[in-house]
Amino acid sequence: MLNFTIEKITPALVVPAGHPDAGEIQVRYDPLTSRSCRLTFARAGERESGTDELPEPPPAAMDTRSCPFCQPQVNRLTPTIDPRLSGEPRLRRGESILFPNLFPYGRYSAVSVIDNRHFVPIGTADADAYLNCLLNCRDYLEKVLTADIDARHVAITQNHLPAAGGSLVHPHLQIQADAKPTNFLRFLSARADSFYRETGRLLLSTYLEHELAGGERLIGRTGDWHWLAAFAPEGFYEIWGILPEAFSLLNLKEKQWRELAAGIINTQRFYRSLNRNGYNLGLLAVESGDSRLELRARIVVRANYSQWARNDHTGFEVMLGDMATFTAPEQTAATARKFWG
Ligand SMILES: [Zn+2]
Repeated sequence: MLNFTIEKITPALVVPAGHPDAGEIQVRYDPLTSRSCRLTFARAGERESGTDELPEPPPAAMDTRSCPFCQPQVNRLTPTIDPRLSGEPRLRRGESILFPNLFPYGRYSAVSVIDNRHFVPIGTADADAYLNCLLNCRDYLEKVLTADIDARHVAITQNHLPAAGGSLVHPHLQIQADAKPTNFLRFLSARADSFYRETGRLLLSTYLEHELAGGERLIGRTGDWHWLAAFAPEGFYEIWGILPEAFSLLNLKEKQWRELAAGIINTQRFYRSLNRNGYNLGLLAVESGDSRLELRARIVVRANYSQWARNDHTGFEVMLGDMATFTAPEQTAATARKFWG
């Protein structure tokens, strides 16, 4: 019902004496989007700067005085929520604090700081702090959608460290709610709808069923969430957490938020073991009441935040539009499993 297609290419070259064989290249197509990507295994042998060991903390790691997300200045330097949305100027749970993004991407654009710790090395985050931060995100989305039902295209994202796009090292999530869907939300929700119309089945549940039957890309579970390596990755060591038959962030139980936090932290510990210190995370939903797009958290490693690290987006990704990674998803899953206990 979904195509898991792998095409193999043999490169036309004669390797220099003493050099290992260049090996095959795989072109894979994402069963959900049909987007192609490449696995260029030989390039795993290239020296990748900044990954011999976990990079040292960045220069900004100790600079708490100029950080707008640190206490006590967070209460002075960050914006407050429009009173038409919330009686409280900022949302708080434990040490987590949520406020609008001072540099917004849309009408409802917010930041949820995880806790008071300014620099948290990857893999050492506190599970309760993450839970509080995610619940703040949910509460904000609930307030936005109560006030503006059109803002139904929602997302929670994370840029961990500046090399992943984070403007500050202080760990935080971004929240977005918009009447206008972004490219991925527009495409995925249309695809989930048409798949349901044509087959009577749910898109991500069908994907997950295939993966549960095969097993080679499965990593583990945290409660109701299933974690697996993406079949056709569009980022390095791409991991998905799928919550089948769940469509709305507003309807998640607290237990499921806690399980999501556990999966995110397990992924961080896996990335740390690979000497990678940054990543992007995304969780998208259409809060329409009749969306067929099930919940999926995507997490990808980004180029290390360290001096002279090489960017992970080359001309191939930026100009040709196909991601080229070096590691087979089956290998990613095999290596990650131990972090799911
Ligand atoms: Zn800070």
